[in-house]
Amino acid sequence: MVITVLGRRWKFEWFKRYTIKGDIVIVGDCSSPNEKNKRLRLAKGLKGSALAEELLHEMLHAAGWHVTEEYIKEFSSDYRKAAEKFDLFQE
Ligand SMILES: [Zn+2]
Repeated sequence: MVITVLGRRWKFEWFKRYTIKGDIVIVGDCSSPNEKNKRLRLAKGLKGSALAEELLHEMLHAAGWHVTEEYIKEFSSDYRKAAEKFDLFQE
Protein backbone atom coordinates (compact mmCIF):
# COMPACT_ATOMS: atom_id res chain seq x y z
CA MET A 1 0.00 0.00 0.00
CA VAL A 2 1.16 3.52 -0.74
CA ILE A 3 0.20 6.66 1.16
CA THR A 4 0.39 9.85 -0.91
CA VAL A 5 0.87 13.18 0.86
CA LEU A 6 1.11 16.40 -1.16
CA GLY A 7 2.23 14.52 -4.24
CA ARG A 8 4.91 12.42 -2.51
CA ARG A 9 4.59 8.71 -1.89
CA TRP A 10 5.35 6.73 1.27
CA LYS A 11 5.31 2.94 1.30
CA PHE A 12 3.02 1.85 4.13
CA GLU A 13 4.08 -0.90 6.57
CA TRP A 14 2.70 -2.34 9.81
CA PHE A 15 5.26 -2.88 12.57
CA LYS A 16 5.46 -4.17 16.12
CA ARG A 17 5.23 -1.33 18.66
CA TYR A 18 8.32 -0.73 20.75
CA THR A 19 9.45 1.33 23.72
CA ILE A 20 12.26 3.88 23.87
CA LYS A 21 13.79 5.66 26.84
CA GLY A 22 12.09 3.19 29.14
CA ASP A 23 8.52 4.37 28.81
CA ILE A 24 7.79 6.05 25.45
CA VAL A 25 5.74 3.65 23.32
CA ILE A 26 6.29 4.10 19.58
CA VAL A 27 3.13 3.36 17.55
CA GLY A 28 4.05 5.13 14.32
CA ASP A 29 6.84 6.75 12.37
CA CYS A 30 7.57 8.10 8.95
CA SER A 31 10.53 8.98 6.78
CA SER A 32 11.54 12.51 5.88
CA PRO A 33 9.91 13.75 2.65
CA ASN A 34 13.40 14.07 1.17
CA GLU A 35 14.37 10.41 1.60
CA LYS A 36 14.40 8.25 -1.49
CA ASN A 37 12.61 5.13 -0.20
CA LYS A 38 10.11 6.70 2.15
CA ARG A 39 8.14 4.59 4.62
CA LEU A 40 5.16 5.43 6.81
CA ARG A 41 4.61 2.82 9.52
CA LEU A 42 1.91 2.16 12.09
CA ALA A 43 1.85 -0.37 14.91
CA LYS A 44 -0.13 -3.55 14.42
CA GLY A 45 -3.22 -3.63 16.62
CA LEU A 46 -4.20 0.02 16.20
CA LYS A 47 -7.89 0.27 15.42
CA GLY A 48 -10.70 2.79 15.17
CA SER A 49 -10.02 6.30 16.41
CA ALA A 50 -6.56 5.37 17.73
CA LEU A 51 -5.61 4.23 14.20
CA ALA A 52 -7.09 7.41 12.70
CA GLU A 53 -5.18 9.57 15.20
CA GLU A 54 -1.85 7.89 14.47
CA LEU A 55 -2.39 7.93 10.70
CA LEU A 56 -3.15 11.64 10.85
CA HIS A 57 -0.13 12.17 13.12
CA GLU A 58 2.28 10.53 10.67
CA MET A 59 0.66 12.20 7.64
CA LEU A 60 1.12 15.59 9.33
CA HIS A 61 4.84 14.79 9.76
CA ALA A 62 4.95 13.87 6.06
CA ALA A 63 3.18 17.08 5.05
CA GLY A 64 5.15 19.38 7.33
CA TRP A 65 8.48 17.92 8.38
CA HIS A 66 9.36 21.25 10.06
CA VAL A 67 6.29 21.17 12.34
CA THR A 68 7.02 20.32 15.97
CA GLU A 69 6.16 16.97 17.55
CA GLU A 70 4.17 18.77 20.26
CA TYR A 71 1.95 20.56 17.73
CA ILE A 72 1.32 17.39 15.74
CA LYS A 73 0.62 15.36 18.87
CA GLU A 74 -1.89 17.90 20.22
CA PHE A 75 -3.62 18.43 16.86
CA SER A 76 -3.93 14.67 16.20
CA SER A 77 -5.35 14.13 19.68
CA ASP A 78 -7.83 16.98 19.19
CA TYR A 79 -8.89 15.45 15.86
CA ARG A 80 -9.50 12.07 17.50
CA LYS A 81 -11.64 13.62 20.24
CA ALA A 82 -13.66 15.66 17.72
CA ALA A 83 -14.09 12.71 15.35
CA GLU A 84 -15.26 10.45 18.18
CA LYS A 85 -18.18 12.84 18.74
CA PHE A 86 -19.45 11.89 15.27
CA ASP A 87 -19.29 8.15 15.99
CA LEU A 88 -17.16 7.58 12.89
CA PHE A 89 -15.24 4.70 14.36
CA GLN A 90 -16.41 1.27 15.38
CA GLU A 91 -14.00 -0.17 17.94
ZN1 LIG B 1 5.38 12.38 15.83
